[in-house]
Formats: sequence, C-alpha cells, structure tokens
Amino acid sequence: NEPVDNYFVDAGFLRRKLPRREKFSHKGTFGHALLLAGSYGKMGAAVLAAQACLRGGVGLLTVRIPAAGYDILQISAPEAMALPDPAREFLTELPELQPYAAVGMGPGLGQEAATAAVLRQLLHRTPHLPLVLDADALNLLATHRDLLALLPPDSLLTPHPKEFERLTGEPARDDYHRLEQLRAFCGQHRCYCVLKGAYTALGTPEGAVYFNSTGNPGMASGGSGDVLTGLLLALRADRRLSPLDAALLGVFAHGRAGDLAAAQTGEAGLVASDLVRFIGPALQELV
Ligand code: AMP
Ligand code: MG
Repeated sequence: NEPVDNYFVDAGFLRRKLPRREKFSHKGTFGHALLLAGSYGKMGAAVLAAQACLRGGVGLLTVRIPAAGYDILQISAPEAMALPDPAREFLTELPELQPYAAVGMGPGLGQEAATAAVLRQLLHRTPHLPLVLDADALNLLATHRDLLALLPPDSLLTPHPKEFERLTGEPARDDYHRLEQLRAFCGQHRCYCVLKGAYTALGTPEGAVYFNSTGNPGMASGGSGDVLTGLLLALRADRRLSPLDAALLGVFAHGRAGDLAAAQTGEAGLVASDLVRFIGPALQELV
C-alpha cells in the first residue's frame, strides 16, 4: 500500500498564498488570458466565465465566441476583448496563441466536430501554456480519447461527476472508488483535476487529494461551474502562482463567494451571476 496524501483546505491552509498586488504593478503583471467558450443558445456560459475571469483579477481577457455571441459578450463583459469566430453558432477556428499566458476552454461550447478540431489544434500548439478545460471541452476529450495523451503537463480539468465518469470511461462504484479514479487519472495524465460537488476534491499529478471546505447547495444550479472555470483561468494566467496554488485558491474562493452570496440571497435564490459579484470579496479575504 502506497502512502496517501489527503488534505483538508480551510482558510488557514491558504493564508498568504494569494500575493497582494504591488503598488507598481500593471496589467501585464497579471497575465492575458484567452477563453474559448459559447455556442448558439449557450452564450451565457461564456459570459459567466468571462465575468468571473475579470473578477478573478486577470490583467487582460480575450474571449473567442461564435460570431452570434459578439454583441452579447461585448455588452455583458465590456472589459473583455471579443474575438469572434468566422462561424455563427459554434467555434471552428483557433486564434493565434502567441499573446496569451493561459487558455481556458469549455463553457457552453457544444460538441460539434469542428469544435473538437479546435480543441485538437489547441492541444497540439500549447505544449507549455497553462490550460483550464471544462464542460464540453472535457466531453470532447472523452469522445476523442487520443487527445488525452496531448494534454500539456499541469493542465487543469474541472469535471463534475458525470463529466469525470465520461473521462474515465468507467462508472465509479462508490465515492471512495471515484477518489481512487481521480488519483489514477491525475497520475496517468500528469494533470490537476477538480472533481466538483460538495467537498470538491482536487487531485494532483503526484497523487495528492485536497478537499475543499467552502460552498453550499445553493451552488447546485446552472452556470456555477462556468464561474469556476473563469476564476481558475484568471489565477492560472497569474505567473506568480503555482498550478497547485492557483487551483486551491480558485476552488476555495469560488465556494466562499457562494457562501457570501447565499447569506444575502438564500440558497434557493442563489444564481451563478451572484457568485461573480462575490469573487472579489472572497479573494480579498485570502490576501
Ligand atoms: P457545474 O456542475 O459544472 O455547474 O459545477 C457546479 C459547481 O457548483 C461546482 O463548482 C460545484 O463544486 C458547486 N456545487 C454544486 N453543488 C454543490 C454543493 N451541494 N455544495 C457545494 N458546492 C456545490
Ligand atoms: Mg459545468
């Protein structure tokens, strides 16, 4: 039996891991992120992820959306730059990657073959860029399984249990088995994987598992995960943070934002855009 590294992550565990913003910092200090998201009827996922990335402290954000999402994004996230795809309803082309410190892909994408080709190009062209993959990017990985071998080291994947089951290709017998699958998956693919739910579990390439302590059932509604993706993208674009600290801080602050929001809205009344509004206060507590 190998030794098992399990950690419980509370505010004390993360104290002073989030660096304060230096007086003379500028937007280049915090990185330029690229988000690939959205499809016709699911542009809201792109908007929520973009807003969360901006609230997560990113220096600059460019969002690749299908052409039909152009006005929607510009109006709902004016701080972000929009880079519309030539296709109207789903993504078909990967933009030039040179400017970016990190790339996030997944929220609201849909699973068109042309979008799978975009993911394939992304994985081929980013041997060293920090990646955050969520939602349909994970579903595409699960259906085009050869892509799993192309994941750059330290990629961050954020499946909910159903997406994780598609990724492993094998239903978990129980929660304990699912954690063993998480450990094995992260070791095999040299990635970080956030298995979402109550007590979200973060697996690392070294085989450790970190259990998050924040969040509430009010977050079990559409769009919550898209907010997490955007926040994690911001933290991965920040070169001051290690992959592990970015993931731990993002998951914790996302849940804390949910707890702060629920104190005002109640759990039933909580919607994902409320999480966005409380990302700033949640991060501030960790500085
Ligand atoms: P998704 O299913 O992709 O929208 O992601 C849902 C998000 O909400 C994840 O970050 C989950 O950790 C969080 N979440 C969902 N249900 C709960 C719960 N019962 N307690 C805490 N967090 C939750
Ligand atoms: Mg999701």
